Amino acid sequence: MAEEKIKEGKEEEVEVISLQTPKGIKDVLPLEQPFWETLKKAVKKTAEFYNFGRLDTPILEYANLFHKAEGVGTDVAEKEMYILKTKGGDVLVLRPEVTPAALRAYFRHGMSRETQPSKLYYFGAIFRHESPQSGRLREFHQVGFEILGGEDDPIYDAQIANLSLRLLEELKIKDLRMELNSLGCRVCRTGYKKKLQHYYSHKLNKVCEDCKRRFTVNPLRLLDCKNAKCAVFKEEAPSIINSLCVVCRGHFRSVLEYLDELSIPYFINPRLVRGLDYYNRTVFEIFSGEGNTALGGGGRYDYLAENLGFRKGIFPAVGSALGAERIIDCLKEQGIAVRPVEKPKIFFIQIGKEAKKKAIALVEEFRRADIRVSEAFGKESLNAQLKLADKEGVVFALIYGQREVFDKSIIIRDMKDGTQESVPVEKIVTEVKKRIK
Ligand code: AMP
Repeated sequence: MAEEKIKEGKEEEVEVISLQTPKGIKDVLPLEQPFWETLKKAVKKTAEFYNFGRLDTPILEYANLFHKAEGVGTDVAEKEMYILKTKGGDVLVLRPEVTPAALRAYFRHGMSRETQPSKLYYFGAIFRHESPQSGRLREFHQVGFEILGGEDDPIYDAQIANLSLRLLEELKIKDLRMELNSLGCRVCRTGYKKKLQHYYSHKLNKVCEDCKRRFTVNPLRLLDCKNAKCAVFKEEAPSIINSLCVVCRGHFRSVLEYLDELSIPYFINPRLVRGLDYYNRTVFEIFSGEGNTALGGGGRYDYLAENLGFRKGIFPAVGSALGAERIIDCLKEQGIAVRPVEKPKIFFIQIGKEAKKKAIALVEEFRRADIRVSEAFGKESLNAQLKLADKEGVVFALIYGQREVFDKSIIIRDMKDGTQESVPVEKIVTEVKKRIK
């Protein structure tokens, strides 16, 4: 086809591929990796200390898992899911969170037969078709912790809140603040919803269009409205805490007592409902400093398994999720040093065809000895390679030329003082090991 066009004297049309990633979706470059490594290390350390086992669920799931989980009137369910139809006719979704998938995996793999509760953690990509802005991406990553099964004991709510906070402390994030609320149970929440509807019934001509709909579809979501016009009504709305039944009140009090015991400072925010619909009783969010962009949040969701049809009746579950990109932004803003990627201390310089041929295998000997070596195999001149070695800040350069190949030796050059020494090539790994110790 292209040849024909050339013969006909026509220029071939080349499709221009954009260098941009899709809106709200980012590349993570090598220079950023130390932040991710630091975070992943802290997550693993925290999870392992509290005996949480890692769970990886797929990025693609059946769409109905999330449709059912998120609840009517939530942004995630209504606007934010990336849904795709496969050739086979399956309707799949790029997961907008992990919690329902963690529950699915728990029941699918019979985890209830193991010691209860099951303590699980995850780290992975999440997709939500939101309006991108600072701290709000369309592909982001969440670290999450879930305690599934066992008892609905408030100590687990406190444990989840505690370890979410400890993870951020482990990362040295300053000025942490926890906001907390209780959303009650099915019984007391029904009473509260009526109170809320009564309160909003006189304000319907003043609230945003979304809130007008929320009023009938899912009144609790009125408290989750981000529209500035509705802020004042949210502020003055009746507090859910005053509507809690005796049992939920007792549960909430116990959570607070455990947090006191752990010396965790918290604020009770009676308007906190969180963006997803499945929470009952405890909900919380964690912030750093004065900012109102949450680093993470979580809560109890004892009805989710039943809503999804996995189990009849209450299934105790409590969990949290923290945003990796927001945590990393915070590390940067607060100037928290992360360990840079360790650089090689050795640079291998080869000069001439024979040396180059042998160099590739010699570097392998260093790999077997677990010593990292940098090189520029495509370069020919000694000067160019020495310059690079200097730029990379290595401690020693190894110089291997025609003569060294012939002599079965190699030169080791101290990059600090420029002194050089010839060493038998078969001893070079041992020699380097000794010198860089
Ligand atoms: P959620 O699953 O909505 O409870 O969110 C838990 C945490 O994930 C939030 O506190 C944020 O740190 C993070 N997060 C949620 N949505 C986004 C987003 N669009 N972009 C970046 N991080 C997000």
